[in-house]
Amino acid sequence: MMHPPLFLDTPSPRRACASDDLPAKPSEVPATLTCYEATQRHWHTVVIGAGPTGSSVAMRLARAGLRVLLIDRDTLPRGKVCGCCISPQGVSELRLLGFSSIEESLHATPLHSLVLSAAGKQVHLPLLGGAALSRERLDAALATAATRAGADFLPKTTLTQIDQSNVGVRCTLRDQESTATLSAMSVVIAAGLAPAIRINGSRQIRSVPVSSRVGLGATFYDDTFDLEPGQLLMAVARHGYVGIVRLEDDRLDIAAAVDRSVLAGSATTNHILSEMLYEAGHRVPNELAHVVLSGTAALTHRSPLADGLVFRAGDSAAYAEPFTGEGIGWALQSGRFLSQAIVQGVDRSSTTSDIRLNAATIAAHWQSSHNRALRGRLFQCRVLSIALRQPSLVGMFIRFMNAWPAFGKQCVRLAVANDCETFTT
Ligand SMILES: Cc1cc2nc3c(=O)[nH]c(=O)nc-3n(C[C@H](O)[C@H](O)[C@H](O)COP(=O)(O)OP(=O)(O)OC[C@H]3O[C@@H](n4cnc5c(N)ncnc54)[C@H](O)[C@@H]3O)c2cc1C
Repeated sequence: MMHPPLFLDTPSPRRACASDDLPAKPSEVPATLTCYEATQRHWHTVVIGAGPTGSSVAMRLARAGLRVLLIDRDTLPRGKVCGCCISPQGVSELRLLGFSSIEESLHATPLHSLVLSAAGKQVHLPLLGGAALSRERLDAALATAATRAGADFLPKTTLTQIDQSNVGVRCTLRDQESTATLSAMSVVIAAGLAPAIRINGSRQIRSVPVSSRVGLGATFYDDTFDLEPGQLLMAVARHGYVGIVRLEDDRLDIAAAVDRSVLAGSATTNHILSEMLYEAGHRVPNELAHVVLSGTAALTHRSPLADGLVFRAGDSAAYAEPFTGEGIGWALQSGRFLSQAIVQGVDRSSTTSDIRLNAATIAAHWQSSHNRALRGRLFQCRVLSIALRQPSLVGMFIRFMNAWPAFGKQCVRLAVANDCETFTT
């Protein structure tokens, strides 16, 4: 296989960057209790995973008066393989959660343009309403908001097993020192693409299409790479696509969806991404050669939404490839729908002092809102991901978009539900 030279970018003068103006790093989100203390309480809902899905569910359920425990295997802030572009829908969902202006409160950078390249063709498309924000800052802010709403938070703790019985759900947890079990009325699995968790001794099999790609990504500083804040680069190549955006602290975020077959070859992941950028006609950041890239499990999968009083949401429920940058928006929206369904399933008429949760009511509400809102978009996203496997087709589309700006405008509208004006260069 031919590899492109890694230093395609003519070093440009150091970007004018007012490093004094860069926001301070987000601070650690502290645990609100110990693992032992968590085992001493009976939780209405244990939420596994403090990503956008889990933190938004925890926040909403705590606001509704439920006893909620949010668990994550990591500490926050933490990075994640992600393009870090929040869609307009994601921005609206954040507003519903109380983040009225993420530019002001979280230093998010409004996205103003997309530079799309494939097969050596390039088009510039204006974007409106979305924003770039590091996952360190976004996820830490959401988890903090969940604890402020009254949820408890237990970081550095991994859920390994769930056992359901007539009396409720038992969760087996592992922290650095020990294993513990705690009891809950319900569990929300919002663990992203992490391997399926054992339920009643068996691991649920995920349905993963053979063609499913995997994610690769990293954040790094590269002053020589000329990319304006608010500009998103997308490169479509034969073996996948790559996005690059500048974050609020001046780092570059690179994220890619890559064919699994190409990873089996001898090329390093850094070379694979460089080659994809080069093939599409984009410049390659000089520092990309030295970056440590993280990977994900297969991106496209589907899992059952409900299993008794165990519910899945966000990436744990269903996932399509991330080209349109809607994952965070979907995660927040699915968190909203699932928490509404759980609140609808609360039965306060019980003779005991505590509430009861009606599994069938929750599952029915969750399934119907999921189908109504998300299924169509997932399907659209899959169709788009098939088209993206043909860079020459995308190159042809780019030529049309350059020739007929109104066509480009419609394409972006359809792809990212974005209200934009198209211009060409
Ligand atoms: C290459 C790539 C690019 C992307 N680009 C974008 C983009 O630009 N815009 C966008 O909106 N979306 C993008 N996405 C999608 C987006 O990252 C996800 O859709 C979103 O993070 C889903 O949120 P979540 O809360 O469901 O899961 P996650 O954000 O993955 O959070 C899951 C959490 O669960 C924790 N966890 C996992 N297992 C356990 C366990 N057993 N016990 C305890 N904790 C556990 C993890 O530590 C993690 O904190 C991209 C994804 C990829 C792979």
